[in-house]
Amino acid sequence: MPNTITLLREIQRIDLQIEALLKEEAQYRASLEGSGEELGGMAAEAEALEAEVSELTEQKKEREERVRQNKERIDKDQARLGEIKNDKQYKAVNKEISNAEKSNRLLGMEIDALGDRLTEKENELSERQGRLSQKDAALGSMKEELAGKESLWSKNREGLDAEREAVAKDIKPQVISRYERIRSRRGGTGIANVKDETCLGCYIQIPPQIYIHLLKATSELIDCPHCHRILYFAAEVIEEAVPEEAAPEEAAPEEAKPEDAAPGEAQSDQGASEEV
Ligand SMILES: [Zn+2]
Repeated sequence: MPNTITLLREIQRIDLQIEALLKEEAQYRASLEGSGEELGGMAAEAEALEAEVSELTEQKKEREERVRQNKERIDKDQARLGEIKNDKQYKAVNKEISNAEKSNRLLGMEIDALGDRLTEKENELSERQGRLSQKDAALGSMKEELAGKESLWSKNREGLDAEREAVAKDIKPQVISRYERIRSRRGGTGIANVKDETCLGCYIQIPPQIYIHLLKATSELIDCPHCHRILYFAAEVIEEAVPEEAAPEEAAPEEAKPEDAAPGEAQSDQGASEEV
């Protein structure tokens, strides 16, 4: 059976992979949520703009209707003028015509101004609607992708959980919980390599007697006196690499590891690590 530290290294490798998987999932979901919120904001803006366009359209229509009514009145008044004999009445109707014409000139100016604003807002609206539909399509494909990703995540997670369980069953429960306790306090790593008499978990030098003890590679688990991670000694540093990349690289340096020379446990150590 592989020694405990070899098994713990396996556990840590798997745990880092699980962590990376969870992080990827969380990032994807966050970006999906962010896109959804952005889309909601864009839709609300487009809706407000739509309301503005319809309000301007109403205002323009209302003035156009008044112009139409004025014209009708002018036509009627002009027809009446021929029949009027009374000078005073003639003047009154004429004044009514000129007032209506004046009102139409003003309304015409308002209609022009409203028309300009309306064109401007309509252009803005169509530009926004274009961006909105692009964003909507992008979000749609992200959502479609999600189903595939979810099944991949859960498949990978199941694989890693099973792998972890298989390794963990050969480790004493109190050792696993010790590892987990340290790990939860120490940003995801419960064990640390030692290089140049320095713990690579906290980058603080460890006392020489602990280092010598570690080199002897007994089955005893040794904690870093500073960060309390369980220490191990490997010729090459590989644990600090990105989890996904760590696995294939791990097999090679393993062979040169002095601790593998420990009596009784050495052969199976290599076997366990290289299978990965
Ligand atoms: Zn340390």
